Amino acid sequence: MELEGINKFDYEIIRSDRKTLSIEVHHQKVKVRAPQKAPQDWIESFVYQKAKWIARKLVEQAERNENRLRLSDGQLIHYLGKDRVISIKKGANRIRVSDSGFIIQNTELNAESLSKQMDRWLLNQAKDILPSKVKAWAEHMGLGRKLTGVRFRKTKTQWGHCTRKGVVQLNQLILLTPNSVIDYLIIHELCHLKHLNHSKRFWALVEKYCPDYQKAELWLKQHGHDVWY
Ligand SMILES: [Zn+2]
Repeated sequence: MELEGINKFDYEIIRSDRKTLSIEVHHQKVKVRAPQKAPQDWIESFVYQKAKWIARKLVEQAERNENRLRLSDGQLIHYLGKDRVISIKKGANRIRVSDSGFIIQNTELNAESLSKQMDRWLLNQAKDILPSKVKAWAEHMGLGRKLTGVRFRKTKTQWGHCTRKGVVQLNQLILLTPNSVIDYLIIHELCHLKHLNHSKRFWALVEKYCPDYQKAELWLKQHGHDVWY
C-alpha cells in the first residue's frame, strides 16, 4: 500500500473466528488479524487509517534492529560491567572472557549454533553468579525468609518474575546489562515478595533500596531490547 510521505509496506492477513480487525507489527512485519469473511476493502481501509502508526512502528523496529547485539567478530558486548570486543574462532565450543575481549570458540560458526552456545553459556553463568547476589540483597532487605528459590528463564518479554511461593525468576540476559541495572532488576523482583503488584508502596520499597531505579528503567526502555541477540 502507498501513502504520501509514508513508505510502502506489505502486510499479511490472518483470518480466524473473530469479530474485529487488529494490527500487529513485530520484527518489522505487519500482520492484520481479521474475521473469516471480512471483505477486502474493509481491511484495506482499516490498514489505511492505521498507516501512520504502522510506519512509525516499522521505523522504530528498524532502528532497534541496528543496535541489536550481534554475535560476530568485532562487535561489542557488555558483560559484567564492561564493554568487550567479540572475537569468533573455530574450535571446540568454548567461551572465554578476558579483560577487554569476549572470545567465542565454536565448531560450526553459524548464527544458530553461536546463539545456542551463548544461551547455554549465559544460563550457566547466571546460575553461578546471580543466586548469591539475589540472596544477599534479600537478606539486606529483610526478605531472606520469604525468598524460596532463584530460577532462570530466557523469555522474549520479561526480565524477571516473582511467584506467590517466593521464587524469583530472572532472565539470564540481564547479565548483558550494566551492573546497576542488574541490581535494580533483582531489587524489583525481591520487592514483589512483599507486594505482588506495582502499587505506590511497591515503588516506594524499590526506591528505598535502589534510589536510582528510574535511571535503570530508562536504560531498559532505551537499550533493553539490544541484548536480545
Ligand atoms: Zn514487577
